[in-house]
Amino acid sequence: MDYYAATVEKLIEEFRKMPGVGRKSAQRMAFYVLGLSEEKAGSLVTAICEAKQKVGYCSICCNLTDEQPCKICADLKRDKSLICVVESPQDVVAMEKTGEFKGLYHVLHGVISPMDGVKPEDIRIKELAIRLADNQVKEVIIATNPNIEGEATGSYIARLILPLGIKVTRIAKGIPIGGDIEYADQVTLSKALENRTEIKG
Ligand SMILES: [Zn+2]
Repeated sequence: MDYYAATVEKLIEEFRKMPGVGRKSAQRMAFYVLGLSEEKAGSLVTAICEAKQKVGYCSICCNLTDEQPCKICADLKRDKSLICVVESPQDVVAMEKTGEFKGLYHVLHGVISPMDGVKPEDIRIKELAIRLADNQVKEVIIATNPNIEGEATGSYIARLILPLGIKVTRIAKGIPIGGDIEYADQVTLSKALENRTEIKG
């Protein structure tokens, strides 16, 4: 039998679809929403709708943005000859927090994973190749996560770039194997960036 009214159940199920949210957390979120004033619930709905309408991929680096191009790509002080390739927008935030990287990014939105049926054309590799065609880029730093998929994706991209005569580097192994760039502390990430090694064809 259903313990909650159908509309409450529906709300709980919607929250449950969110990453890392189990049934209990989903219930807490649903009750939080039900406890909101009409006005506060409205501003939550507006925030969701506005983010959905206004946020999209940067036409250059594929990071999430509400302006075109994104703030980082539009910043004239950034070094356009250097591109750091990361898996997710969260990784851009982690790199930015180090304060060490002054180049541009390229966000793949995933990794190649035959196990999960993710092919190279399913992530933003083609967009990277297009960016590299304009001859401005001197070095591509591969900063995918140090796990099997991250390494395989890095190697795939390196093989694609090396024939273009562009230097390809991999961030150092300071990040524990299987670890996540998103959660690496700033010192570790700075060191991994500083001690990056060149990938040769
Ligand atoms: Zn951008």
